[in-house]
Amino acid sequence: QAKENGRNLSQFFTTQMNDEANERRALETALHQALEREEFVLHYQPIVDARTSELVSCETLLRWHQPEHGNVYPDKFIPLAEDTGLILPIGAWVLEKACFEAVNWAKKIKNPPNISVNMSSRQFQRTDVVALVRDTLQKTGLDPQRLTLEITESLLIVDDKKIVQQLHDVRKLGVGLSIDDFGTGYSSLSYLRRFPITTLKIDRAFILDLTTDEEAAAVVSAILSMANSLHMKVVAEGVEELEQLNALREGGCDYIQGYYYSPPVPIEAFRLMVQKEGPLEPDE
Ligand code: C2E
Ligand code: MG
Ligand code: MG
Ligand code: MG
Repeated sequence: QAKENGRNLSQFFTTQMNDEANERRALETALHQALEREEFVLHYQPIVDARTSELVSCETLLRWHQPEHGNVYPDKFIPLAEDTGLILPIGAWVLEKACFEAVNWAKKIKNPPNISVNMSSRQFQRTDVVALVRDTLQKTGLDPQRLTLEITESLLIVDDKKIVQQLHDVRKLGVGLSIDDFGTGYSSLSYLRRFPITTLKIDRAFILDLTTDEEAAAVVSAILSMANSLHMKVVAEGVEELEQLNALREGGCDYIQGYYYSPPVPIEAFRLMVQKEGPLEPDE
């Protein structure tokens, strides 16, 4: 009986593993064709000034409308794109698309929002990001001051001279650098002094517990005061509730991003927000 169960169980696992491997392979094949088939779209999520609620920036978030697999979310295909190297052409496409769009807003209104683009560590490790950013700025005509690249702590812990140099060179172009999901990565903060970081984005896990957990509140307050001393700006990610917004305002957080104001939206909807003047109304 036990043997029987054991065999069934191992058979079950093999089947399941095969399914996963097959799905991965199917996705990978589809991913290879996604760019040329124009299956990627960018969504835009507002980033507002914490004090005035004005739309000051946005983050571009990649979406994949895959005909057979439906809408595939980045957490599923970005790791695959990184493993296969496809993140390089995809990342270049995202950057160019975002910069062109931001230039368009500037043609229509006086104070257009800035734009933040997620960068994979692989882009720094495997290509000349400095050349990519410089060429894209030139091609699109975007004011470098309006662009921020979001990087993760994982890029900074490998204390690689080449990466330190690239970050300084990108910064010299006038482009901002923010650390995404700040607080979840690594305990050593010493790298903050070595890298030309302009902005910290507090991970949404801390914001989620901000008003119910003293330790989360302590971490948020420590990040805010450290950023202030280091002359960095702070964006709070994942703000969903008014109570969270109020706590962040009181703490002196600069910028707010999250469902409280708006989820990431397709370009048509975002253009309407760009055109509307005055403070951004909360969602619903
Ligand atoms: P991220 O850069 O930390 O982006 C924030 C994620 O939080 C987004 O998920 C966004 O939809 C979600 N979010 C925003 N506000 C709220 C909120 O109030 N509550 C909750 N629960 N979630 C909120 P998304 O779009 O699924 O993206 C996931 C991750 O995929 C991103 O995390 C980023 O690391 C990566 N990603 C997205 N687009 C790109 C891209 O163009 N290039 C690269 N390399 N990575 C990307
Ligand atoms: Mg991000
Ligand atoms: Mg983030
Ligand atoms: Mg994230």
